[in-house]
Amino acid sequence: MNSKLVILGGGAAGVLIAMKLASQNIDVTLIDSKTFYEYTPALCSVLYEETDAKFHQHFSEISFELEPFLRKINVEFILGNAKLIKDDKVFIHQREEGIEYDYLVICTGSSYADPWKTQNGTECIDLNRRINFLNEQREKYKQAQHILCIGGGPVGVEVATEISYRAPGKKITLVDMNKTVLANAPDGIGNNAQRILNARDSITSIMEQSASQKGQEGNTYIYETDKSHTEIKADLVYNCIGVTPNSEFLQANHADWLNEKKQIIVDPGLRVTSNVFAVGDVNSVNEPKMFYTAHMQAIHFVRNMSRIIKNNTNVENLIPYHPSRPNMIVSMGPQYAIGYVSGIKLTGWPLGLNKGSHLASWGKYTIERITMNSCHLKIPVNEVLYLTSRP
Ligand SMILES: Cc1cc2nc3c(=O)[nH]c(=O)nc-3n(C[C@H](O)[C@H](O)[C@H](O)COP(=O)(O)OP(=O)(O)OC[C@H]3O[C@@H](n4cnc5c(N)ncnc54)[C@H](O)[C@@H]3O)c2cc1C
Repeated sequence: MNSKLVILGGGAAGVLIAMKLASQNIDVTLIDSKTFYEYTPALCSVLYEETDAKFHQHFSEISFELEPFLRKINVEFILGNAKLIKDDKVFIHQREEGIEYDYLVICTGSSYADPWKTQNGTECIDLNRRINFLNEQREKYKQAQHILCIGGGPVGVEVATEISYRAPGKKITLVDMNKTVLANAPDGIGNNAQRILNARDSITSIMEQSASQKGQEGNTYIYETDKSHTEIKADLVYNCIGVTPNSEFLQANHADWLNEKKQIIVDPGLRVTSNVFAVGDVNSVNEPKMFYTAHMQAIHFVRNMSRIIKNNTNVENLIPYHPSRPNMIVSMGPQYAIGYVSGIKLTGWPLGLNKGSHLASWGKYTIERITMNSCHLKIPVNEVLYLTSRP
C-alpha cells in the first residue's frame, strides 16, 4: 500500500510538489482554503491593467481552479482551512474528522496586506469572490488622485511604477526607512531603482523616514512622516511592508514548532518532525521569501521525498537544503524592469538608465508564462534552475 502525503497549501510550493510527486508511488492530497491557484508576482500588473477587459483577461491567465487541475494528475483536493494538527491528522474548520497522513508538508506561505494575498480568516474563498474583491480594489484605484505607498520593497516599487506609467495624472508618494528603495536587493540594484523612481514626475520618494496615520477627513487619509513631519493627504494607501507566516493553526498545540517570527523551524532537510516538513514562505530557512525560492525548496523536498518513497534513505538521512543564489526581477512599469539574474545585473544600462531594462521585463513575463506551465515548461525549467542555483 502506498504511503499518504498531505500537502497543506496550494500556492507556489504546494502545487509544484503535487505536480512533481503525482507520478510517484505515493497517494497525494492537497488542502487549501482557496479553490484556486493564483500567481501572486503578476498581481501588480494585473490590477492596474488599462481596461476592465484586459484586467479580466490577464487575471484568467494567472489563475486556475485547483480541483480539476489536481484531478487530472491524480491528486485529491480538499477545500478547507486548517485549524489544528494532531495525531498525524490535519483538522480543518469545514469538517469534523481529521485528514490522515503518513507524511505532511506544510506550505501555507505568508500573508500580506490587502489586496495582494487573500485574507481568509477561517473561511474558504472561491474565484468569484476573489475577482469581485479585486474589482473593488480597481474601483478604489480608478477614483484615487493621490496614492501613498508605505514601503519601498519589491511590491511598493512595482505598485508605484505600474501606476505611474498607466495613470501618469495620479500623484504617488512612496515612503521608506532606507536610503534607497529595494535596499535588500543584491548588488546595489536598489540605487538603479531609486534613480528610475526619481526620474518619474508623478512619484515623490520620501526616504529614511516612516509614515504613520494621523487622522482621516472623509475619504482622505492623513499621514505624517517621523523626521521631516511632512503631511501626506492620500485617498488610497497601500501598506507594502512585511510578510507574516501563515502558521497560526499551530499555536494551539505546536507552538514549540515556531520561532519568534512565527516561522516553522526546520532542520537542513526542511523537516519539522520525523514525518512533518515545511517548505516556502512559512519556514525558517534564511533566504529571501519569494516564489522562486519556494519553488527551489519544493524541488528539494521532492528529491528527499522520492528517496524516502523508494526506500533509498530514512528520514534521518536527508539531503540538506542550501539557500539558493539570489535572483530577482522587479517590474518598473509595464515595459521595463530591473533584475539580478545568475550574477548579472539587468538595469537598462547604457540605454535605459532612467527607465530600466526591456530584457528584464521580458524575462519577468517569460517567468510568468513558465510558472503557468505554458508549453509544459514549469517542471523542467525549475529543475534546471535548482541545479544551477546551488551555491
Ligand atoms: C504582491 C506580491 C508580489 C510578489 N512578487 C514576487 C516576485 O515578483 N517574485 C517572487 O519570486 N516572489 C514574489 N512574491 C512573493 C511570493 O508570492 C511568495 O514568496 C510565494 O508565493 C511563497 O510561496 P508559498 O508556496 O510559500 O506560499 P503561497 O504561494 O502564499 O501559498 C500558500 C497557500 O496556502 C494556503 N493557506 C494558507 N493558510 C492556510 C490554512 N490555514 N489552511 C489551508 N490553506 C492555507 C493559501 O490559500 C495559499 O494558497 C510576491 C508577493 C506579493 C504579495
